[in-house]
Amino acid sequence: MADTSPPKVQKIQKTDAEWRKELTPEQYYITRQHGTERPFSSPLNVEKREGMYVCVACGNPLFKSDTKYESGSGWPSFWQPISPDAVTEHEDSSMLMHRIEIRCGQCDAHLGHVFPDGPQPTGLRYCMNGTALKLMPKDEASGDK
Ligand code: FE
Repeated sequence: MADTSPPKVQKIQKTDAEWRKELTPEQYYITRQHGTERPFSSPLNVEKREGMYVCVACGNPLFKSDTKYESGSGWPSFWQPISPDAVTEHEDSSMLMHRIEIRCGQCDAHLGHVFPDGPQPTGLRYCMNGTALKLMPKDEASGDK
């Protein structure tokens, strides 16, 4: 019998040409071509406002501001996504390293990587490209707590 329960996060699929049209060149490079922004280049590094960090490509909610922390890495860092299916994990053996790549659970945008050197309670460091994220500040978000 087929599993009829719908996935919590509906996949968004667009062509490369559509993404190229909708995103800035920098956003396209990071999210669709697995790019990495220069460390300390994103304004979100020093962002302290409360709110929800969403995928810059599709708006999928990814991280709450209260899971953001100062990692010193030069990239916005979080210790937990808002839900297990907000992001997906993928083996990444590029750059002569073994890393776990993190993508948006909804549109597969490349976001960054996760490392096992984060703070408690998870011990994880979601090392994200600020270019791939957008903060929806709490006071401007409608109905978001
Ligand atoms: Fe997305």
